[in-house]
Amino acid sequence: MDKFIYLDNAATTKTSASVVEAMLPYFTEYYGNASGIYSIGVKSREAVNESRRTIAATIGARPEEIYFTAGGTESDNWALRAAAEMTGITVFENQPGDRAVTANSGFHRKNHIITTKIEHHAILHTCEYLEKRGIQVTYLNVDENGIVKLEELKKAIRPETFLISVMFANNEIGSLQPIREIGEIAQEHGILFHTDAVQAYGQLPIDVEKLHIDLMSASAHKLNGPKGVGFLYIRRNLRLGSFIHGGAQERHRRAGTENVPGIVGFGQAAKEACESMQKRAEHERVLRDYLIDRVLREIPYTRLNGHREKRLPNNANFSFQFVEGETLLIMLDMEGICGSSGSACTTGSLDPSHVLLAIGLPDDLAHGSLRLTLSAETTREEIDITVDTIKRIVERLRSMSPQYEDFCRRV
Ligand SMILES: *Cc1c(COP(=O)(O)O)cnc(C)c1O
Repeated sequence: MDKFIYLDNAATTKTSASVVEAMLPYFTEYYGNASGIYSIGVKSREAVNESRRTIAATIGARPEEIYFTAGGTESDNWALRAAAEMTGITVFENQPGDRAVTANSGFHRKNHIITTKIEHHAILHTCEYLEKRGIQVTYLNVDENGIVKLEELKKAIRPETFLISVMFANNEIGSLQPIREIGEIAQEHGILFHTDAVQAYGQLPIDVEKLHIDLMSASAHKLNGPKGVGFLYIRRNLRLGSFIHGGAQERHRRAGTENVPGIVGFGQAAKEACESMQKRAEHERVLRDYLIDRVLREIPYTRLNGHREKRLPNNANFSFQFVEGETLLIMLDMEGICGSSGSACTTGSLDPSHVLLAIGLPDDLAHGSLRLTLSAETTREEIDITVDTIKRIVERLRSMSPQYEDFCRRV
């Protein structure tokens, strides 16, 4: 393939060479089933447990609180559906510190979830599924920067609320949520707290104890790991049921032969991401700010979506007035630049982004957005080429826009 500039790291990342190298022996040599008693099976099992220990250490968790899944989407589905089931059917042992007991005390069934309007579809569509089955869901508004308002969260809490699910960082506009404060509020009220940390894990420091997180989703392919593997952190003592039924893998909670190479790759990627986090974030932040400054300074009628500082170090999201986002993307692609109009999942649909609508953008601006997400490998030269190209394309598209012509005549 020709040389191209990849600025869609929120959609997925390149699997790093060292991750591939760590995975390879688990395809070719140590291919034994991790449940087998022969030595190559034992080798697989040990590798899975090694990854579990590595990953647990990166978030201040215990190894037995990490459950491997097939990715962020599965982890989100599991957390919400199992939490909803647990409120009605689980039998509890009365242990001190067992949050589930508090979450379910009383005789009535708790049936209310609080989430936000800007969650990933893995959360939103699971909530819609649960609504059809009698669960009530409050979708919190966010402010103009895409940040949850704590006062609104507090007001939304009911005696029936059993779960708060708020993403750590938004995948479209990068906005960071007040996770510790939300965790504290949840804990005060005896409500479970889940966070979709798929964008944040490996990018930002996370400590599940300090942040009062009960359930957390993450995915390997967003941090230079392989696709199709993730984890759900489940706080100890929480009697969350299974989501995938079958064998006894993952301590009876997530059946299916372990994806040993994937899990090994995830462990390696997590280790690398956490070791390089500070340096990488600094590199990305400098280039991101340079990108934002240049675009806002040099291209008129442009806005930055999301908070100027409280955002992922690698995320920039712009709306260009009088420009259709999809057209801009296609033209950028023809020049070898990969960006996105928001989330990979909505590309191809004509609906404007639910996140941009939630921060109050009118339809036309929500259609005219461009998300650029950087990596450790992004260079200043790439950013310069990208800005120059966007500038040229935006000018050209505007010159063909009757609305823009109209607008210029009026000002
Ligand atoms: C990518 C993403 C997901 C989905 O993760 P997969 O591993 O691709 O299933 C969920 N939530 C957020 C915030 C994401 O960015």
